[in-house]
Amino acid sequence: MAHAIGIDIGGTKIAGAIVDELGTIVAQDRVPTPAGDARAVEDEVVAMIGRLRADEHATGGIDAVGVAAAGFIDAAQSTVYYAPNIDWRNEPFREKLEARVGGTVVVDNDANAAGWAEFRFGAGRLVSDMVMLTIGTGVGGAIVASDRLFRGGFGAGAELGHLRLVPGGIACGCGQHGCLEQYGSGRALLRMAGEIADAGGIGQALARTRAEHGKLDGALVGALIEAGDPGALTALRQLGQWLGQAAASLSAVLDPQRFVFGGGVAVAGELLLQPIREAYLEHLPARGYHPEPDFVIAELVNDAGVVGAADLARVWVEQHA
Ligand SMILES: [Zn+2]
Repeated sequence: MAHAIGIDIGGTKIAGAIVDELGTIVAQDRVPTPAGDARAVEDEVVAMIGRLRADEHATGGIDAVGVAAAGFIDAAQSTVYYAPNIDWRNEPFREKLEARVGGTVVVDNDANAAGWAEFRFGAGRLVSDMVMLTIGTGVGGAIVASDRLFRGGFGAGAELGHLRLVPGGIACGCGQHGCLEQYGSGRALLRMAGEIADAGGIGQALARTRAEHGKLDGALVGALIEAGDPGALTALRQLGQWLGQAAASLSAVLDPQRFVFGGGVAVAGELLLQPIREAYLEHLPARGYHPEPDFVIAELVNDAGVVGAADLARVWVEQHA
């Protein structure tokens, strides 16, 4: 079996692709995500699968379709327990899609799909055990242990953004306090940059930019980081230190050979990885005796969701053939 279809339902767009067995995209499609309405999202996904199957690159008929979405998805890759952006509650999405499009459909968490893509075809392809943290607006997590995607007993595992880092810390959207997401995400970077701007001193360029544009956003802070502004670099460094601290705790549990960092903030590259490595070593239990993993930036960037979703569908079909 050569080709599979991968669909990634994001907050703003639905991306789809035909992906070959080496993880290469041979055709792709995208539409805006209909706001909030589960039925409209389902209709768009069905239409996209139809278009991709009819594509001239869809040789020999494509049976397997993998769909990635944010939320809790059961270990059978079938039911969406809960999605933050769409009104799915215990939604039997796989069953509904299979009834409408035929063939085999599997559903996975979007961070899991991105992590699986890196493991198979990107920055994690040379290791058996890998942790991926996707640093976007929030923090997504994926764990590969002994060459297998770790989903947990109910399918809701690897929610690494909600690892508690600071007892009694900043309130999180999940209802708890002090989660990694509040200290290691793109949103956290903006908060830290704002605090540095308020403090004056090295924050002067950040404060000027904020005054000019009304508020700081990822692109503005990213440009200042690229320009070597000391305030913006300090914010990035703080972010990296929190991520490194979280990685040390994750190492104690999972002992991965490699940590992979993806998402918008990861374009900072080595500037992000350096404070992560330093904080990791500082907080690593049994430092000096624990073999050290390496820390790298994701390679697949925007395509990881669709590539991973397609490959997870292919793997499912192979395992159930
Ligand atoms: Zn949380």
